[in-house]
Amino acid sequence: MKAVRIHEHGGPEVLRIDEISIPQISKTECLIEIKAAALNHLDIWVRRGIPGVPLPMIMGSDGAGIIKIVGAEVDNFKVGDKVLIQPLTFCGKCRWCYDKKENFCEQWGIFGENQDGTQCEYMAVDSAHLRIIPDAMSFDEAAAFPLVAETAYTMLVERAKIQQGEIVFVWGASSGVGSMAIQIAKAFGCTVITTIGDEKKRKFAEELGSDLILNYNTEDIANQVRDYTNGNGVDIVAEHVGTKTWATSLRILGKGGRIVTCGATTGAEAKFDIRHLFSKQQTILGSTMGSVDSLDKMLELFKQGKVKPVVDRSFTMTEIQDAHVYLENNYQIGKVILIP
Ligand SMILES: [Zn+2]
Repeated sequence: MKAVRIHEHGGPEVLRIDEISIPQISKTECLIEIKAAALNHLDIWVRRGIPGVPLPMIMGSDGAGIIKIVGAEVDNFKVGDKVLIQPLTFCGKCRWCYDKKENFCEQWGIFGENQDGTQCEYMAVDSAHLRIIPDAMSFDEAAAFPLVAETAYTMLVERAKIQQGEIVFVWGASSGVGSMAIQIAKAFGCTVITTIGDEKKRKFAEELGSDLILNYNTEDIANQVRDYTNGNGVDIVAEHVGTKTWATSLRILGKGGRIVTCGATTGAEAKFDIRHLFSKQQTILGSTMGSVDSLDKMLELFKQGKVKPVVDRSFTMTEIQDAHVYLENNYQIGKVILIP
């Protein structure tokens, strides 16, 4: 079968299409014929080089496809089932896993970072990672959904404890996590302020339900938010940008506000004034990936018509280098899909 692999770290040129054998399944796994795989910013970090990536590595965290072979001990799936793949790997035995906080697991990992991923024709996946794709969801949408859905849900619901009627500020409407966070906040009855860097993305942000859309290249975010909130600031800031936005995130945060961050794309260094933190009784929260339960909650919200995966465009497997360049240049509005 064909698979997108890296044998070394570097630019898009290190992405190769390798011919390798179809994996064997264990008793608890199913063999999935991958119909669609999604790209995430994580793919770029993995390609460029982060610690702990075993090489060679099949790229890709998200995927969806059809079950071709069912393992001897798997009784909840059958051949022909259309499934999506939950990308977080976990031990299932530690105290965190028993507590259903698999993203805190002592041995957690992600497909395409710590073990072979989804950007291939066939993948052996433990049945604990599989979910039936809802009828109204295409393979492309199903591949676009899991990682950003569970990440955004865990940030806003499990970490920031979002409440109906709050004002939620989401950086980057067109990013995968941003587009999900906006929809989740609207599903919880919140007012949403979001940002775009390009006017071409305004309509997209509107369609997600955003109440106020600010262009970070042309508008003063902090002043606009202060006016819009009558000087009170927002209740939650969903951060994944890092150094470039951190100071603004703190400036717009109101009393009792929570900043929840899942990334540092523009840098990891940040400052804050401890006096502001305690006097305004604010909270800074870290969040990474999501629990398995958070994906199931998001699938429920999808079935209720409250959230939907947003697919920008697809690339074929042979265009994988172009797909990385597209993502690195921030051209996407929603998720980028790879078709094996
Ligand atoms: Zn565990």
